[in-house]
Amino acid sequence: MTDLTIRNVRIILTMPDGANRLVIVKLETSEPGLYGLGCATFTQRHLVVRTAIEAYLKPFLIGKDPTRIEDLWQTMAVNAYWRNGPVLNNAISGVDMALWDIKAKLAGMPLYQLFGGKCREGAAAYGHADGHDEVEVADNAQALIAKGYRYIRCQAGGYGGKAPVRHSPEKSQPGIYYDSATYARSIPRLFAYLREHCGDEVELMHDIHERLAPGDAIRVAKQLEPYRLFFLEDPLPPEQLEWLHMLRQQSATPIAMGELFNNPQEWVSLISRRLIDFIRVHISQIGGLTAARKLAILAETFGVRTAWHGPGDTSPVGHAANLHLDVSSHNFGIQECGGFPEAVREVFPGCPEVRGGYLYPNERPGLGIDIDERLAAKYPCDDKPYAGIPIRLPDGTATYP
Ligand code: MG
Repeated sequence: MTDLTIRNVRIILTMPDGANRLVIVKLETSEPGLYGLGCATFTQRHLVVRTAIEAYLKPFLIGKDPTRIEDLWQTMAVNAYWRNGPVLNNAISGVDMALWDIKAKLAGMPLYQLFGGKCREGAAAYGHADGHDEVEVADNAQALIAKGYRYIRCQAGGYGGKAPVRHSPEKSQPGIYYDSATYARSIPRLFAYLREHCGDEVELMHDIHERLAPGDAIRVAKQLEPYRLFFLEDPLPPEQLEWLHMLRQQSATPIAMGELFNNPQEWVSLISRRLIDFIRVHISQIGGLTAARKLAILAETFGVRTAWHGPGDTSPVGHAANLHLDVSSHNFGIQECGGFPEAVREVFPGCPEVRGGYLYPNERPGLGIDIDERLAAKYPCDDKPYAGIPIRLPDGTATYP
């Protein structure tokens, strides 16, 4: 196998769920039929990632030995000199996951075997219970419990809640307005209701999604203690991480952070100072499995568990990568996964599925997932410029999405 080389690097763009532009890398080798798949999905800037791979990584990779994953990862990471940004990290991830897929196929093993083998048979998953108010959220949580979920993220009114904002200045700019004070008051009420109506056994989470000022986030974390959350997610934006030590001094509510992280310097201090309980980076956003494995092992040393980001803009290939880490990492905590629409499952044979609240890897060599390119082409990406609507505070100030 020493003469195995990378013959081609292809990018497949597809949007089978009608909402998330998925970027899949297919890395073909000199051995007929031997290829790997990787997730490079940056759904809001998918064309930039495609260009980064086609114009820069592909010429760099053609002819190289695909078994030298570590060396390729390190050289891709610094090949542009400027590094650790979301576009290049996603591009590298697409290649990196495909390289691991190929290596496990060469070994004739599911990828988790190369990571040390299973330390659990399935990975517990959490779904999302959303609703306009606490009654609807509780109903949706009960529906998930009936499907076997025992971990549920609960949000009323979407991120930041939905309360009418009645006191904006004249001629305020368009946007989605929310009132952080109203939202902060609503969170403990929501979880009091959920504990009363869903019981003590179910594990509950909540995502603040950076929608509170740091002092308010600290107060809310304290107020949530009686409801024993499994974790409170993103109480602070990455720009305000120094507030975390104040939060930790005042509250025992477990904290999960990391989906916006790109650079190891963003997580090393949080983990080594034990300022978070769960690291939940988006694996393609940090450069793929090579980076995520090192992060998982670092976190294990400090008693921090994993909770890899897994929303709809993580492709099924990315979810498969999450899952191989989940079943082989001793410090696995929980996996976000609400399942996939039928069209997505058809495009990606071997797509992970949640059964009775657990995800199970299949036993096929590699990541255990494929892509039906003919079907994928039936769901072309919407290439219009991403039109995210600005999020605004009551006085019209733009804030985090
Ligand atoms: Mg989140």
